[in-house]
Amino acid sequence: MTRRPDCGVGHVPGAPATLPDRAGPAHRRGVARTVTTLVRVKICVLAGGVGGARFLLGARRLLGLDTESARAGSPHRIDAVVNVGDDAWMHGVRICPDLDTCMYTLGGGIDPERGWGHAGETWNCRDELAAYGVQPDWFGLGDKDLATHLVRTQMLDAGYRLTHVTEALSTRWSPGVRLLPVTDDRCETHVVVTGGTADDGTGAGDAATPGDGPDADAPGPRAIHFQEWWVKHRAQLTPSGFVQVGADAATPTPETLEAIETADLVVVAPSNPVVSVGAILAVPGIRAALRSTPAPVVGLSPVIGGAVLRGMADTCLTAIGVETSATAVARHYGARSGTGLLDGWLVAPGDAPADGSGAVDGVAIREVPLLMTDPDATADMVAAAIDLAGLEVPARTDR
Ligand code: GDP
Ligand code: CA
Repeated sequence: MTRRPDCGVGHVPGAPATLPDRAGPAHRRGVARTVTTLVRVKICVLAGGVGGARFLLGARRLLGLDTESARAGSPHRIDAVVNVGDDAWMHGVRICPDLDTCMYTLGGGIDPERGWGHAGETWNCRDELAAYGVQPDWFGLGDKDLATHLVRTQMLDAGYRLTHVTEALSTRWSPGVRLLPVTDDRCETHVVVTGGTADDGTGAGDAATPGDGPDADAPGPRAIHFQEWWVKHRAQLTPSGFVQVGADAATPTPETLEAIETADLVVVAPSNPVVSVGAILAVPGIRAALRSTPAPVVGLSPVIGGAVLRGMADTCLTAIGVETSATAVARHYGARSGTGLLDGWLVAPGDAPADGSGAVDGVAIREVPLLMTDPDATADMVAAAIDLAGLEVPARTDR
């Protein structure tokens, strides 16, 4: 138990409307009738790559976990349940793009321009591979990045779980957040597309190694690995759906389930609702864990003013029949009081429902600035999520 109900419980002046009541004993602890002050805060964040990583920078800032020394004396903890749907085998090494984006971003090694990969990256290995003419030639493995993949692959080959491999890699980067792959199993996103050509003979629809399968020049619908769609085709092939290959046999890790079940607050980062958060939710058992956790579940909209900030989330949403709007994404996730996942949903100013109800289908809505321009601005978003959940953390002392 991280709550101290004898300390600071009570109504905070200016505190907003609390979350709607939910039926069922399993949800009672998550119902916020009063504001509860937490002296030891445990936040669990569902995260994708760039958006998830930037959000985690804000969570870390809010809880004062930016530096090693601050962490040493801190009772607070952040667990990030990270998407592995983008993962792939390329050139014999295991790539985990979203885990690495979170790790490099929080570890201060991310390329700030691209938002992924190492700062100061070089591409000698990629160029040498191209000189050999090996496929796939459309996926650029950076030299520095390759070291991460080599360590990961060696450890996986030695029998370590991805969770423990990630923990080992994180020792170097010291992210200040526990990075947890949602599953240790392969559960890779494939994109159903029509058209395009496999002109380089890379093939498509091969779950084992994207771009290394049989030729697939056939123009009919087929499922290609997410990386092939995203990197090779630059998301230009219109998707008609997404499939998680491996989901049938995948299970969440015990660490992930524990993180969700023991959190004071679960936050759905403003990550891509389809290929980041959706891929996390596709792992059997994750939805049930989110529905049964005593913690409130609050999400942040990646859609602001009817547009996504970067990436192709709008294309992904359209493919699954969801409008690109903050309220439509809230409906897509649904309310825990119904059959969905959310208690609260933060939207950008102007994006709340026009009827003034402050709710969408049972999900409490609050308007706050949602641009993650820097960790301080993002920390305010995390504070708003905590506030909407009816929780309170001790005041920040770092600014
Ligand atoms: P990816 O795995 O690298 O694609 O990253 P994520 O899935 O974690 O995040 C991508 C999403 O982040 C996109 O849908 C963007 O709309 C969203 N995003 C990026 N920057 C911001 C921001 O400043 N504010 C909000 N609210 N969303 C953002
Ligand atoms: Ca991603």
